[in-house]
Amino acid sequence: MKILSINAGSSSLKFQMYEMPEEEVLISGRFERIGLDKSFYTVKINGEKVEKFVDLKDHSVCVEYLIKELLENKVINSLDEIKGVGHRLVHGGDKYSESVVINDKVIKTVEELSDLAPLHNPANLMGVRAFMEKIPSAIQVGCFDTAFHQTMKADRYLYPVPYEWYTKYGVRKYGFHGMSHRYVSERLSELVDKDYSNVIVCHIGNGGSISLVRDGKCVDTSMGFTPNAGIIMGSRSGDIDYSVIPYIAKKTGMTLDEIDNALNKKSGMLGTSGISSDFRDIDEAIAKKDERAIMAHYLFVNSIVNYIAKYYVELNGRIDALAFTAGVGENAPHVRRMVIDRLQCLGFKIDREKNDEIRFGKEGIISSVDSKIPVYVIPTDEEVMIARDTYKFIKK
Ligand code: ADP
Repeated sequence: MKILSINAGSSSLKFQMYEMPEEEVLISGRFERIGLDKSFYTVKINGEKVEKFVDLKDHSVCVEYLIKELLENKVINSLDEIKGVGHRLVHGGDKYSESVVINDKVIKTVEELSDLAPLHNPANLMGVRAFMEKIPSAIQVGCFDTAFHQTMKADRYLYPVPYEWYTKYGVRKYGFHGMSHRYVSERLSELVDKDYSNVIVCHIGNGGSISLVRDGKCVDTSMGFTPNAGIIMGSRSGDIDYSVIPYIAKKTGMTLDEIDNALNKKSGMLGTSGISSDFRDIDEAIAKKDERAIMAHYLFVNSIVNYIAKYYVELNGRIDALAFTAGVGENAPHVRRMVIDRLQCLGFKIDREKNDEIRFGKEGIISSVDSKIPVYVIPTDEEVMIARDTYKFIKK
């Protein structure tokens, strides 16, 4: 059975088509610069990647090109072979604790939640509408970034602010990267081979979040009301003292939107190093002994260590496994080493050789045999989670 997994942003749309339940990727690709000049798309099939420069006026045009590619490459012979289309949706607020079949009511609710994710929810819906229009015979499923974290209890998700901010305006912790935390924690449970497991998942990419997952359910996570909370990220600050905001507004005359933009796009590793939000550039600078890059790196590691230690203590040390995932977590052994070395007092121990080996899409254990808690690298796969959830609805 053929299922599409879709991640639509305002100017990009990523896709993968799966043969389910085998989870075989038949074709994948992305549309870029939708609605802008120099738009193009790439398609990867049978290990070959092609790039095509075409006018991509809107998301509907992308779906037309996608269908054309599927037919021309004989991935499908007719549209009704596509039984389901799963969409990544960023914000489900407290309305969705799992994936859902998309109907008019769901679209309306996701629209209403746009205040909480003004950049993402409307863009995600552009993708949904385009697929509903072009492939009406397929079931459309919404998979929320926030859903996995809905199992957090009030003593985790409430902020110590006036209570009516929560009741009237929905100010609380939501958490993000849910599909990734779910994928990695499920995989970890398989690896540690326990029916009930307590695991810590470190999703560290350009954006980053750390979750504590108990028996498959999220207990707590580092991102908050927005993705700009928790650990330091590529260009986002993560946790800071909020008083910086009114202070900088007074000092510089910047508006709230400008400060918000600076905290999202000009902070984190980029802001502290003054070099880049990309760890590969920071690494190069560290090799040249750039002091700010070195300092940014320490700040970053500190912020990760703090969350792991906090979650470890909260479960009285009863942690079955820790995992690293996403761009930095999967590919930067020195970051993992620095984090684990700092956690030695809790019984974590790294195997340096294995740690150096496991990168670029490899899965494996990087802790030494005498580590109290096993540490894994698990390449995340949000796309397959979307396909799995979509498949479940079709099977029903
Ligand atoms: P997102 O999905 O949040 O955009 P990713 O999980 O794809 O991010 O991570 C991208 C980041 O991973 C890059 O910005 C870079 O900092 C980091 N990264 C990717 N490859 C490497 C590498 N080989 N070494 C160090 N960092 C890397």
